[in-house]
Amino acid sequence: QQREKADLLKAYDFAAKLYHFILNNTDQGKAAKSYLVSRGISDKLIETFQIGYAPAMWDTLVQQLEKRGFSLPLMERGGLISARHEGGGYVDKFRERIMFPIYDATGKTIAFGGRSTGDAQPKYLNSPESFLFNKSRTVYNLHQARPHMRKTQQVVLFEGYVDVIKAWEAGVSNGVATMGTALTKEHAALLNRNADKVVICYDGDNAGQSAAFKSIPILEEAGCQVTVAMLPDGKDPDEYVSTYGFDRFVREIIEPAVPSMKYKLLYIRKNFKLHEEGDRLRYLQTAVRMIADLASTMERDHYLKQLASEFPDSSYESMKLDMHEILLQS
Ligand code: ATP
Ligand code: MN
Ligand code: MN
Ligand code: MN
Repeated sequence: QQREKADLLKAYDFAAKLYHFILNNTDQGKAAKSYLVSRGISDKLIETFQIGYAPAMWDTLVQQLEKRGFSLPLMERGGLISARHEGGGYVDKFRERIMFPIYDATGKTIAFGGRSTGDAQPKYLNSPESFLFNKSRTVYNLHQARPHMRKTQQVVLFEGYVDVIKAWEAGVSNGVATMGTALTKEHAALLNRNADKVVICYDGDNAGQSAAFKSIPILEEAGCQVTVAMLPDGKDPDEYVSTYGFDRFVREIIEPAVPSMKYKLLYIRKNFKLHEEGDRLRYLQTAVRMIADLASTMERDHYLKQLASEFPDSSYESMKLDMHEILLQS
């Protein structure tokens, strides 16, 4: 088992180098590279993140692994290559994809995320879980972000690889991402071990906003202090950087991130027609219930006052009474 692990790590490392070489030095790589450049990913970023390209052929990696004496059945079990459907033998798992190596906390390649450059589905193909790779315990870019996380005691949590990479170029070097999975308790504990504060910076679309809403309690239960960066017009961080530039991304999105309670109140608001009296009251009741969940009296009072000042026809005193009742019941 130890031996197999070491071999598989060696193979993943080799594959990452091969894909990176192909991107930088071959004709097929050229087209992939201009795709990356068109998305604002420079040569420098390609180096920093060791981005590569898996070519169109069926067995580029399989042949190279075989030539170097790696056990192909082991490589298949480790998710690096695929068994051929018929007739035995093996084929590459990733073809015609931009390859993002996924590293463990110490910087060893343990998986890949592969993005198709054309219409091929799925858009992203990730390595399957293996005895090296557990996606509910892995966040992308942890090994590079960790020193910055420790120093600033802050981490910025993104949805996608490209968001992390573009943010890095904007000077956000404490950025990580989960890999197409919802945030888990294990992820939250991992982040909390390295930083007190988490800035959630998910996509501005409905899926991203709802994922942010769901991630907040998971992070807070792990002990993190959570703020949420909000992206306008359904944009994701990568698109925001491309449209408005690095400086504006930091100044207008990351820095003004709002406390989780404020985000939650804004998020649930969309379900109510606030110009209708009945709905407005139902919103206030829901909001008060949410605020009652806060552990600190001072914090509860802060948000209650804010709410009251926003809705002058409902008094702060009555909200406070409602909240006391809720607190007594719980
Ligand atoms: P791009 O900018 O390259 O179009 P994205 O990161 O904006 O990609 P999203 O659709 O926002 O793509 O997805 C966010 C993340 O979720 C991706 O980076 C990837 O890790 C994961 N993901 C997306 N689609 C899939 C998929 N079909 N299968 C597995 N993971 C996926
Ligand atoms: Mn998305
Ligand atoms: Mn996105
Ligand atoms: Mn994107």
